[in-house]
Amino acid sequence: MNFEMEYTPEQEKFRQEVLDFLARHVSTQLREAAAKERVSEAEYAMQRDFGARLAEKGWLYPVYPREFGGGGLGVTEALILEAEAHEVGLSLPPYYDAGGEMAASCIYTWGSDDQRQQFLPQILRGKARTWYLISEPETGSDWSNIQTLATREGDDYILNGAKVLVGSDHGADRFWMLAVTNQDAPRRENASWFFIDANLPGITITPMDLLSAGTERGVFPGAKNSVVFDNVRVPASTLVGGENNGSQITNYYLETVLPKYGETVRDGLWDRLADYCKNNVVDGVSLSEDEDIRDILIDIFIDLEITRLFGLRSMAESLKEQPRTYQVAQAIAFRKVSQLRISTLLQKLLGFYALTTDAENQAGGGYFEQFNRRVLADLAAGGTSDVQRSIMARRLGVGGMTRDDSD
Ligand SMILES: Cc1cc2nc3c(=O)[nH]c(=O)nc-3n(C[C@H](O)[C@H](O)[C@H](O)COP(=O)(O)OP(=O)(O)OC[C@H]3O[C@@H](n4cnc5c(N)ncnc54)[C@H](O)[C@@H]3O)c2cc1C
Repeated sequence: MNFEMEYTPEQEKFRQEVLDFLARHVSTQLREAAAKERVSEAEYAMQRDFGARLAEKGWLYPVYPREFGGGGLGVTEALILEAEAHEVGLSLPPYYDAGGEMAASCIYTWGSDDQRQQFLPQILRGKARTWYLISEPETGSDWSNIQTLATREGDDYILNGAKVLVGSDHGADRFWMLAVTNQDAPRRENASWFFIDANLPGITITPMDLLSAGTERGVFPGAKNSVVFDNVRVPASTLVGGENNGSQITNYYLETVLPKYGETVRDGLWDRLADYCKNNVVDGVSLSEDEDIRDILIDIFIDLEITRLFGLRSMAESLKEQPRTYQVAQAIAFRKVSQLRISTLLQKLLGFYALTTDAENQAGGGYFEQFNRRVLADLAAGGTSDVQRSIMARRLGVGGMTRDDSD
């Protein structure tokens, strides 16, 4: 069975249009910046500028309606865009906007007409970069335990509390954040989502010193931060989806939307590793000709390919508009755990060359060292694999032997 994408003549025409656009607008500097764990201010500005060009065509967030700044395109066109961007080393959006992806989906589904008109174009037209703020010093997997407080005062809410492990470098324009709006209600019935200005008085952002900030949807955030709210006043009109309805919205997003329609491209690791093993010769023989090394390479390929096939399955389900239950959690759990397996295999294959960036000994331009660090961070980002397993068990109706407090 052939699992490669095949396009109709019309889709092929669209693909050509995308290729022309990318050839005109993607510079070498833009491609190089996308591969960096941290980008400079100038490189970030270049990424935002490219995002704005994509948005002019409705290609930054292609599946949203045009009236809100999307492209009004189908899932297949969105995947063509994603696949061709990937071919030139980019992701869509071309800068970290995980909060924008989450906020857009939730505002589109749960927001009022006014909120859709006011908020969606900021994200979809690339005018605002958004961080999502859930995690707190005492709250990770068990996110319904958040403590950050939003107290109603007239037409405003006053925010107090702290978030951790959030965002990226080079700041944000907007925060999509969860806060408690009724301290007396039971958890899961006490919190609400806000789409707020990220630069209000009383907000303090401090970068955190981590092993790696990982990747989210193929993009390096560059850094993670703590954000403290000290009597931050926000208009009540920034509360989205109804007061104390935050848990329902969080479940909707984390369990059924992520990943939107599946990541159908193979991780960039494969090409780099295959090239490295073909081109590195020891005792007159290239690494890839060694039988043991070939075994390891194929094990890595199998894991990467299964991840891609889960993505294709998600896409097929999206195209058929089939409801998904356990499948999204399965795809995420598999990706996280298989990356860890791959990291172990990489170290077996390359030894300490996979763990250093020093100029003399690093392998693959330092990419393998960076991969080994980021897969550890990726285990937790967006929910751990254990939590994905809990979701699967619940969705499959198995288990119940132990109590699952994480919702
Ligand atoms: C690189 C990175 C990026 C991040 N980005 C963001 C962001 O942008 N915004 C944001 O809000 N947060 C972000 N986070 C935070 C992330 O969502 C949390 O780290 C994650 O939810 C896990 O929470 P925790 O770290 O508190 O670990 P805990 O929840 O304390 O978990 C500790 C261990 O216990 C296990 N565990 C917990 N509950 C269960 C359960 N019910 N069943 C079985 N095992 C369980 C976990 O799997 C884990 O192994 C990020 C984290 C990282 C590392």
